[in-house]
Amino acid sequence: MSQREIFIPISRLRSDPPAGSAPVLDTFGRPLRDLRISVTDHCNFRCTYCMPRDRFGRDHAFLPHSQILRFEEVSRLAGLFHQLGVRKIRLTGGEPLLRRNLDRLVAMLAELPDIDLALTTNGSLLARHAASLRSAGLKRLTVSMDALDDAIFQRMNDADYPASDVLNGIDAAQAAGFESIKVNMVVKRGVNDSQIIPMARHFKGSGHILRMIEYMDVGSSNAWRMDEVVSAREMLASLGEAFSLTPIGRHYPGEVAERWQHTDGGGELGIIAAVTRAFCHDCTRLRLSPEGKLFTCLFATQGHDIAGILRGGATDEQLTRRIARIWREREDRYSELRGAGQGSTQKIEMSYIGG
Ligand code: SAM
Ligand code: SF4
Ligand code: SF4
Repeated sequence: MSQREIFIPISRLRSDPPAGSAPVLDTFGRPLRDLRISVTDHCNFRCTYCMPRDRFGRDHAFLPHSQILRFEEVSRLAGLFHQLGVRKIRLTGGEPLLRRNLDRLVAMLAELPDIDLALTTNGSLLARHAASLRSAGLKRLTVSMDALDDAIFQRMNDADYPASDVLNGIDAAQAAGFESIKVNMVVKRGVNDSQIIPMARHFKGSGHILRMIEYMDVGSSNAWRMDEVVSAREMLASLGEAFSLTPIGRHYPGEVAERWQHTDGGGELGIIAAVTRAFCHDCTRLRLSPEGKLFTCLFATQGHDIAGILRGGATDEQLTRRIARIWREREDRYSELRGAGQGSTQKIEMSYIGG
């Protein structure tokens, strides 16, 4: 991993502005509301759009275990983020269910008052873990699934798991009490776009919410090309031929999905137009990497080393001041700039920082 880092010595922390009780706003006036915590950079899939096997093979240097934040460290930081206004935490990865005893971390985070706690998983190990995650206090689940057809599913994730493993995971999660599970489908032209209608048909009336995502230029290893992106407009045109849908807007400012409803009562669908309709203007998301760096954008090129400060003996107040300062100085809007042809090139990988 070659991410550069910004290291601020503890002695400099005293000059950071204090974190008051007012919401912390970035340079564009966006409040800090969401935290994504990546608990591992390992994964049992090799999705071609995220961890292509030729770049993440046997000799890939994953983070050493000693560097990965311990649950107590994550939980301490989460408490400080909460003080700064975070009300939504999503656990992600890599594949978060590869992290041993993840339910222990869930139980620690679930104690934060008024917190919306969610997890994104590829679903392959979900059947095994759904019940313990639910009883630990996890409230919401997003399961990634790109196809129903096994051959297409495996072309997308380049791993030896049948789609039925993920479907069983979703069923187990429902049986464990998770409601309206979200199902994320990345659409890549010529690979799984033929699955748009079968997936929509399968999840219609299931109570789960399928969300189709434009294939993004995250990281530097997926050889992304614009002509492989199926735009939201194209997805909606296909869906419109098979179903009668009506737009229902977004739940709240900052929600990434545009929502649609089957007019016959078959439930909801979402489209995440991360490439063709940037939503940076109300992006309230901060990301914590497995070894404790903070990233203020999915497309950032460098992180802020919070673990170094934490492990160096900083007090809660010093840490809070530093985090608040990082947010106040934030000026990211990569997706808007991409449209203007100004995107950066050396970006962090999605499998390291999480979606
Ligand atoms: N491994 C878990 C999973 O797949 O759900 C969590 C981490 S994964 C990085 C989080 C989400 O990012 C998944 O829904 C995945 O489909 C999405 N994702 C990864 N690479 C992407 C890309 N290039 N474009 C769009 N979405 C992507
Ligand atoms: Fe793994 Fe998720 Fe990336 Fe696929 S999208 S390789 S499951 S981290
Ligand atoms: Fe937020 Fe960065 Fe994505 Fe824009 S590009 S929505 S700032 S994470």
